[in-house]
Amino acid sequence: MEETLSLKTELAELDKRHFMHPTSSIQMQQKNGPEFIFTNGEGIYLNEISGRKFIDGMSSLWNVNIGHGRQELGRVASEQMSTLAFSSAFSTYSHEPAIRLSKKLSDMAPGDLNVSFFTSGGSEANDSAIKIVRHYWKLLNKPERKKIMSRKLAYHGVSMGSTSATGIKEFHEMTTSLAPDFIYAPAPKPGMSESGNETVNLICIKETRELIEREGPETIAAFIAEPIQGAGGMIIPPKGYLQEMRKICDEYGILFIADEIITGFGRTGKLFGIENWDIVPDMMTVAKGITSGYMPLGAVLISDRIHGELIKSSKGTLFHGFTYSGHPTACAVALKNLEIIEEEGLVENSKIMGKEFAKELKQLEEEHWTVADGRNLGLLAAFELYEDPQNRKRFDSSLAVSKRVLQKCLEHGLILRSITYEGSDTIAIAPPLIITKEEVGKMFSIISNAVGAVEKELENEGFL
Ligand code: PMP
Repeated sequence: MEETLSLKTELAELDKRHFMHPTSSIQMQQKNGPEFIFTNGEGIYLNEISGRKFIDGMSSLWNVNIGHGRQELGRVASEQMSTLAFSSAFSTYSHEPAIRLSKKLSDMAPGDLNVSFFTSGGSEANDSAIKIVRHYWKLLNKPERKKIMSRKLAYHGVSMGSTSATGIKEFHEMTTSLAPDFIYAPAPKPGMSESGNETVNLICIKETRELIEREGPETIAAFIAEPIQGAGGMIIPPKGYLQEMRKICDEYGILFIADEIITGFGRTGKLFGIENWDIVPDMMTVAKGITSGYMPLGAVLISDRIHGELIKSSKGTLFHGFTYSGHPTACAVALKNLEIIEEEGLVENSKIMGKEFAKELKQLEEEHWTVADGRNLGLLAAFELYEDPQNRKRFDSSLAVSKRVLQKCLEHGLILRSITYEGSDTIAIAPPLIITKEEVGKMFSIISNAVGAVEKELENEGFL
């Protein structure tokens, strides 16, 4: 025990001195050091160096779809590394893992999304999609079609193009300037469910049309959208919204890119999120669940129609490619991960457990005066905390209500995530797709106790 403590202290000091964490408070790190140093994981659980065990209620970063500790993936990685750890896929070089994975993705993806361009992760996939659509329009002699229309509260990543497509102001304010030619359409409001609000839907569509007309449809290359907005608030769009956006894109000749980086590979109870609305995008970006986080990998899936134009009109080299585009080990691991998702019926499990989630969320709303707008598709879920749920009145952000709920969940061994952009108190939940009914029950009992404890505190502070 003492040994573990001294190791944790040593690592914490090294962490503070040398490790700049992604998306983190640098000051908090310097003050407190890392709160958790994880050592290993199994199934839906993560273990921490001091011996504490947590349910990974967010699949880490919405990515560990098949759960932790899957030795099969380790074996595949080891075999691939021992035979061909890396070789280039530039130019005319190729290798079997990337070829097989591109074929597999073509079999899985909807419509004619039959061609893959590989990256190391989601941001690179979105940047690649943006550059490929612009390249496509250039080849079609329409270089003026270069604007990328994303949405407010969209999250598409942190590289220059994907940050510019992101519609969350905190990510923009972090840097001085963004890439040019990005525009932002309104998004449905957080908490609007699929059964949802017609009026909001209509306003959203009307304002999007106005934006397109104002900018000039002939200047817009593509619309990029997460089928369910994740980091920006877990927003499930209201009925008809995405179908209407597909129609608008067709009407104005704008390409539709679906960012499936969270919603892909079973997360929503379908293989891809967009399939919940029966529409086929022109391009799709994927990452995260493609390897369940066991290796870094992303991809842009491109339609035959667009690829056909590239074949017809390209002259010379496509000047776009990463050293790790189609990394052999990452591709081999992805193939094994996708095989596990299929063989273990994890898409179906996500759908079935999603039904349990819906029941649990409803119960949470019934039992707690602060909770409303519980929503989920498969194992992608969230609920809101309000001072006055009926009138959707938020708590003052200084009360940090959602952070307090997270903290209480942690004390009882559950990791979740809060989203607080634009004053919201959203709690997001997205466990590994292998979760069982019993484990869902366990998670929600922790959540209910945590919300109950915070409500008691609030009552003592004079609320209710
Ligand atoms: N798009 C979406 C919808 C995401 O959620 C994320 C990551 N959270 C990204 C893009 C960026 O992916 P990455 O962090 O792998 O670059």
